[in-house]
Amino acid sequence: MKQKQQQNKDEKEFTPCCNQSVDRKGLNVNREEDWKLIENHIEEKLRMYSSTESITPVSCKKCGRLLSYSSVLKRDKKYFR
Ligand SMILES: [Zn+2]
Repeated sequence: MKQKQQQNKDEKEFTPCCNQSVDRKGLNVNREEDWKLIENHIEEKLRMYSSTESITPVSCKKCGRLLSYSSVLKRDKKYFR
């Protein structure tokens, strides 16, 4: 399994602003269609996990790339660590 030997000379693999893989076509909150997907995803999650109070997409301020979701659990208020 020596497949990791090819190293590209151009280091465009990661965005400088948020260090995300450029190859990966991630969602971008600046793109309207992506934003809809994100919203749908959040709604679905909220429906699935009733203990989740809210989910906020965390995106790069510079390029708008979606980095992760930050969710607030209802229980966190009671038992916050
Ligand atoms: Zn970025």
